[in-house]
Amino acid sequence: MSITENIERVRARIAAACQRCGRHPNDIQLVAVTKNIDVAHIRTAIRAGVQILGENRVQEAMPKFEEIGAEARWHMIGHLQRNKVKQALQFAEMIQSVDSLRLAREIQKQAEKLTRPVDILLEVNTSGEESKFGFPPEETLGAVQEISALPDLNIKGLMTIGAFLPDPEDVRPCFRRLRELKEKIDNLQIDNVGMSILSMGMTDDFEVAIEEGATMVRIGRLIFGERPE
Ligand SMILES: *Cc1c(COP(=O)(O)O)cnc(C)c1O
Repeated sequence: MSITENIERVRARIAAACQRCGRHPNDIQLVAVTKNIDVAHIRTAIRAGVQILGENRVQEAMPKFEEIGAEARWHMIGHLQRNKVKQALQFAEMIQSVDSLRLAREIQKQAEKLTRPVDILLEVNTSGEESKFGFPPEETLGAVQEISALPDLNIKGLMTIGAFLPDPEDVRPCFRRLRELKEKIDNLQIDNVGMSILSMGMTDDFEVAIEEGATMVRIGRLIFGERPE
């Protein structure tokens, strides 16, 4: 299977999932996850219509960005260390993986220097798995309230990585929890906070995530094949 065909199949599956739950495929943004994927393969995906790339590590993303640049939009989706924020803001239009107040404050500090507002998502640990980053669900509203006071950060929504379970049906509660959290926060109409983006669903579980309200899915292996280590 070629990358181009894989992307067509992903789009068809997104459309089918939307049909099952009465949603429109235009309401789902596809992020192609390009960790460990080289520039040539990424360019093939861009030619096949991919517009947003998700990268996990600043170190890896920077040289790719230097070659590809504005042919695509770049999102940081992996855990971000505070000492990498400045570099991340050189290429990332959005940081999806804001998982602590200290990180949010550092992004604010760098955004202020750049005099440009930065779009962010708050990452929520909906599975409770120790190995995962993200705010615990019960601390997310408090975090949103604190971060909303930082003038150069635009909170656009929430992101989660579902539990690693073989049956995607078992991951559904994680996605449902994120959607319920989004609705609760939305209803409070906090100044400076939008909740239009729910970034959830990956290769093994994106259809369930769409059924639960995902507006953005992050897909790697289904587009590029199993990742080279
Ligand atoms: C790797 C990764 C993905 C994509 O995973 P696949 O299973 O390859 O689709 C999505 N989101 C995050 C945060 C990732 O690290």
